[in-house]
Amino acid sequence: MKYKYSTVLLKLSGEALKNEKEIYNKEKLEDIAKQIVELAKNGLKLGIVIGGGNIWRGKLGVDIDMPQINADYMGMLATVMNGLALESTIKRLGYDKVNVYSSLPIETVTDDYNFKRARLKMNEGYISIFVGGTGFAYFTTDTNSVIRAIEIDADAVLMAKNGVKGVYDSDPNLNPNAKFYEKLTHREIADKQLRVMDLTAATLAKDAKLPIEVFDMQGPNNIIKVMEGSLESTIIEE
Ligand code: UDP
Repeated sequence: MKYKYSTVLLKLSGEALKNEKEIYNKEKLEDIAKQIVELAKNGLKLGIVIGGGNIWRGKLGVDIDMPQINADYMGMLATVMNGLALESTIKRLGYDKVNVYSSLPIETVTDDYNFKRARLKMNEGYISIFVGGTGFAYFTTDTNSVIRAIEIDADAVLMAKNGVKGVYDSDPNLNPNAKFYEKLTHREIADKQLRVMDLTAATLAKDAKLPIEVFDMQGPNNIIKVMEGSLESTIIEE
């Protein structure tokens, strides 16, 4: 295996699929899909959790006086759309072995989530795209990434960011002196109040001793490079 992990859970944000004008940008979808297909063809067992922020976030509903639960379900549905967009792009590129598993039952276009089936299919070279978040309001797709990573027995969560190379002590876009961390423990995420993921996700990963590698997916073949170990990143582990 030419990659540093044999099974990974890749967390993509919904933002990764959009540009200033469109919720889906064809080039971005294709770029991500191409890298994913190359990794799968080379034998990497790949689960993907996708966010929904390019379409809808729960807090947008709260801003217009919608109950948070309703707004959160809308966010989970947004992740279903993103998963279907990624699935069809992967298939258009000629790779047919891909399943979309939804935590919310949507039987006409997705498979109901079942970790045993996902594991069996991944052993046959299928890419698993996990959509619908956790299926519960008040949670995040980061938390779902950790849950799914545990359930597919992933070696790590690969958390893709857009334009930042990993974790800093403050926002590097606002603070030019922000300190970059190459290594952190899960506990330090809480202790240093780092905003890389929510605390539920960090706590779960700590309990499961699951490493999380945070990297910048903007850049040519950065998803492949991080799997090869040739990209600067932050590793969060015990
Ligand atoms: N969401 C939820 N439960 C989950 C996952 C997501 O309620 O388990 C909702 C939440 O409202 C969130 C939205 O779905 O704002 C989109 O997910 P997320 O913000 O994680 O996507 P990203 O910002 O990573 O694109």
